[in-house]
Amino acid sequence: MNRIVILGGGESGAGAAILAKKQGFDVFLSDLSEIKPKYKTLLNEYGIVWEEKQHSEEKILNATEVIKSPGIPDKAPLIKKLYAQGTPVISEIEFAGRFTNAKMICITGSNGKTTTTMLTYHILTKAGLNVGLAGNVGNSLALQVANENFDYYVVELSSFQLDGMTEFKADIAILLNITPDHLDRYDYNFQNYVDSKFRITQNQTKEDAFIFWENDPVIKAELAKRNIQSTMYPFAIERNEKTKAFIEKDELIIKTLKTLFTMPQSALAIQGLHNTYNSMAAGLTATVLNVKKENIRESLMDFQGVEHRLEYVATVRNVRYINDSKATNVNSCWYALQSMKTNVVLILGGTDKGNDYSEIEKLVLAKASALIFMGVDNSALHKYFDGKIANIVDVTSMNEAVNAAYNIAKQGESVLLSPCCASFDLFQNYEDRGKQFKSCVRNL
Ligand code: ADP
Repeated sequence: MNRIVILGGGESGAGAAILAKKQGFDVFLSDLSEIKPKYKTLLNEYGIVWEEKQHSEEKILNATEVIKSPGIPDKAPLIKKLYAQGTPVISEIEFAGRFTNAKMICITGSNGKTTTTMLTYHILTKAGLNVGLAGNVGNSLALQVANENFDYYVVELSSFQLDGMTEFKADIAILLNITPDHLDRYDYNFQNYVDSKFRITQNQTKEDAFIFWENDPVIKAELAKRNIQSTMYPFAIERNEKTKAFIEKDELIIKTLKTLFTMPQSALAIQGLHNTYNSMAAGLTATVLNVKKENIRESLMDFQGVEHRLEYVATVRNVRYINDSKATNVNSCWYALQSMKTNVVLILGGTDKGNDYSEIEKLVLAKASALIFMGVDNSALHKYFDGKIANIVDVTSMNEAVNAAYNIAKQGESVLLSPCCASFDLFQNYEDRGKQFKSCVRNL
């Protein structure tokens, strides 16, 4: 019997193990860290053999195929050994794709994946399609393939998941944008990361759709090099002859061979330039799937947004507080600042990934009345912004940050948490950071 070994016992690993077991494989799961109790219970329920806090090589190197959690880098010694002996190492999504005929709508990009995934899912469910939500958003595709019977899946894909995919095909592929991120996992070679993102189009034919941001310079350059067979649906603010979604006279327009859809840009539930792009991508997807225009329009108008992404928290003494804790890179902070209609007190900082702040300098100078640096080590931020912005405050906790912002912000301004950085120096993760922000604001 073929032996499937799963490395990593989180959401994707546990799901893959269950699907493999149900498909009759000999299954073993191994995690170098502790496995969360809920996944242990699940694995036990299905009689799956597992281990934690170790990798027993003799039980792993004999695998026919290995399914690796996206969190484990290719450089890990065990993975190198597997590659060296020729064992295929794939991702959970690749594995799950073999056991379903459901249509796959796959979303990737450096920023905006979760928002676009949730928005697309919102439109399709409201339109009455039998659709599952999977991938990076936190629900295992494999587990749903094992236990559900969906006709469609909306799947958020990170570059790490894409790396482990070779045969999988997206029926609709969405590539939102490409800016440098996670370069530590790509040998500090941007092209490797770009190649990984472009795997979203692999195996596509002209029957399949490729939806992408037409004016992204990286995507543009890459398209000129590649011979992609998919039917293309580019979106952009300004229309050219091939653009399928664009803005004209403040109207969002989707124009394909089959459809002409229009709605006022101001009626979109999620505001800001980046969210206009996300809405175009989701709207185009729904159009390709022949969702009725009324359904698309209504869903683009009543979508609630996603927590920690430019999330409005409260107005205190005529100052608006906005939680954008998910802005863990400079580009997403750029979009946050760009969408602000008032001056801002900007809270930023955390674990710096080698950030280049020049990208936001102009907007910071134009819109930030003060900067609050919140991190264990704020030296990179000081190096860049000292002398450019007069009012800079250092803090080492969320409580201090919100109190400082409260004292500084003038009536009519906004306080924006959009950190440009990972959160691990002071918080468990970006959700913890955002939740602490909201709770401190509500206690003002
Ligand atoms: P991801 O899942 O790719 O990390 P999210 O939807 O969680 O993306 O958004 C992450 C951050 O990026 C948020 O701060 C959000 O405001 C910003 N953002 C959302 N969509 C875009 C986009 N299309 N381009 C740039 N930034 C975006």
